[in-house]
This record gives sequence, C-alpha cells and structure tokens, in this order.
Amino acid sequence: MSSKYNEDLQNQIKVITKLLKKPENRLCADCKRPSPSWASINLGVFVCINCSGCHREIGVHVTKIKSINLDLWPKKVLKNFKKINNEIANKYWEYKLKHFDFKSIQNDMYKLIDFIRDKYERKKWINKKKKDPMTLIIKGEFEDEDNNDDDNENNEDDDEEVKKKNKKNKKKEKKN
Ligand SMILES: [Zn+2]
Repeated sequence: MSSKYNEDLQNQIKVITKLLKKPENRLCADCKRPSPSWASINLGVFVCINCSGCHREIGVHVTKIKSINLDLWPKKVLKNFKKINNEIANKYWEYKLKHFDFKSIQNDMYKLIDFIRDKYERKKWINKKKKDPMTLIIKGEFEDEDNNDDDNENNEDDDEEVKKKNKKNKKKEKKN
C-alpha cells in the first residue's frame, strides 16, 4: 500500500469521525441503534454492522456498503457526505413511516432485512414528491429546508448569511 493511500485513508477517517459526532448521525439510519460504523455510500447513510450485512445481502444495485476505516472512499463521495446525514436521508426514505417500533427489528435479522428491503428496494415510505437526497446532492440540486437557522458548525451557507448581514449594515451606514 502506498503512503499516499494511507495518507488519504487517515484523512478520510478524520473527516468521517467528525461526521459521526453530529447528533444527526448518532444512531444507525435503519435500526436506530447507537454508534453506526459502516456507510452506504450511494444512499448517504451511516449504519451499524448488522444493518450493513443486510445492505450487502440486498446488493450493490440498491446500496453500496463501505467500511469507514478499511475502504478508501472516492474523494467526491466523502465531500457529498458532508452535505447529508442520517436524519436528512430518513426525511426522504422514512417519510411515511410513523410510529414504528424499531426495537422489534433490532434483534431479529429476518425482520431487519425485510425492513431494509422495504425501505430502499421497495421504497415503501419515501416522499414521492421528491428525489432521494444523495441523488440531489450529486446533481448539486439539494436544499435542506429545515437546516436554515440551526447551529450547524459546517454550514456552508454561513458565508451567504454574513454577506447578507454586511449588506444590511452597509445600507444602515448609508442612512446614517
Ligand atoms: Zn442498524
């Protein structure tokens, strides 16, 4: 393995460790157990080891599972992951899922894989009016409408906000 590979992998681990500290990524996107450690890089979700096994079983035409510290991700994928989190993804994939008892699937692999198939393969609970967020992110068309005013430290819109405020202040100065 080249040192460049190792360097890139270490950098990736650093980035992902930070992403996993976001409260939105605290739980597995599917079974909701704490501390996910795998990811589906085309769906943009972090999942636990059990759910990662189910994803693999379903196949790469639906979900591409990668380890966060053994596989080197394409740089673009890593960049896209900064714009998504488990909550954003589930706002689409679990849009119609209400009052579900996640405990009932956590310790039952058959129920778990059925749930994950329902969710991503049969698209049982999606918001049909929208496209899935990762597809939108890849196209550069993603906007998270609920993410405007929170204290998201990686909010790339901050610059825009500052510019607007500066403009307002300038206007005030002119008036004075
Ligand atoms: Zn899980």
